[in-house]
Parts: sequence; structure tokens; C-alpha cells
Amino acid sequence: MGRERRWAIIKKSSLKRETTTVGEAFQKTKDLMRKAGYPIEDNVRVVVNPNLGFMGYTFPKAGRFTIVVSGAAVESGLLGGLIVHEMGHVYRMQTNHPSHSGRAISYAMDLFDGRALKMDYQQKILHEVVNHVEDLYADDISFKVFQKNNLFPPEVAGQFFQGWMTPSTVVSGDARKDRWVNASLMLRNSFALRQYG
Ligand SMILES: [Zn+2]
Repeated sequence: MGRERRWAIIKKSSLKRETTTVGEAFQKTKDLMRKAGYPIEDNVRVVVNPNLGFMGYTFPKAGRFTIVVSGAAVESGLLGGLIVHEMGHVYRMQTNHPSHSGRAISYAMDLFDGRALKMDYQQKILHEVVNHVEDLYADDISFKVFQKNNLFPPEVAGQFFQGWMTPSTVVSGDARKDRWVNASLMLRNSFALRQYG
């Protein structure tokens, strides 16, 4: 999931229990990745942001990777699956896969900037498109690990991704914006269908 989202500083002392749970899940996940043929290097850590409004994300910095999981994800019963998913991103970055190449993404984004797509919603949707591509390649790995270990079984995945879907189009009166938003909803629906279809 998005690597450029805003990061909030959290107090570790208030997170002792979550830190233990997450630490155990992290160790177990590294093991599963190695056994599935996707070894993860030691330059990765997982932290909890209790106030994060979505499941989690990963960001690279100075050759290291930080996986951020939300407080809700810790409580959701889906923590293991989430960390495997984020490890899929880490593996793609560690192995320099083009889908996670900062250079390739910047190049593609610059092409759009040249066409003066300056509205906030346009920038947001372009970032979502990049995230979808990254997620597809991360999940090619994570779904293999899920299947091998009966993590995130199809009926749970089905429910999870149904929650991503929007059944109807948006009509706000701003025709140009509506075209963008509805195209992005269609893309998101297609992504969710692909994940559990
Ligand atoms: Zn992701």
C-alpha cells in the first residue's frame, strides 16, 4: 500500500502489548517468506501506528524498510496476512522489481505532469493507480504464501475485498471530476475482483 502517506510519531510505551503481538507475527512471517522462496533481508522493521486510518503500508528510507500497521489491523485477526502482503512489497523493492522502481514510477508520473494534471483529485488518483500496480506484484508473492500456509483463506479474502468495491457511479455535477473518480472506482473494483475472483 502507499509508501508516501503521512507518518505520525507514536509513543512506544503505550504499545507494549501490540508490539509483542506484532513482533511475533513479524518473526513468523519472515519464516514463512523464507520457506516459500522469498527470503527477506534483515533491514526491515514493523511499527504500529494506532491512529492510522487504513490497514498499513511500507516505506523505504536509507536502505532500510519500515512496515507500519494500524492499531485496527492488530485487532483485526488479519495482522499476519497484512505483514505477508507488506513483505511482498519489501521483497519486490529488495530485488529491484520494475513495479517498485522509484525511477520508473517518477518517469511515468512526469509524463502526466507534462499534461498539467494539477488537481488534487487527479494526483490522488494517479497515486492510487501506482499503488494498484505495486499491490498486484506484491500479492503475486503474498497469495502464494497464503495458499501454502492457509493464511487469509478465500472466503476471508472474498469478504475483505468486497468491502473495497463501490457498486454505483458518483454524480457530483463536476463532469470532469466525475469521469476521473468513476474511472478510479472502476479500476478499484476491477482490482478487488481480481484479488478474490
Ligand atoms: Zn500494498
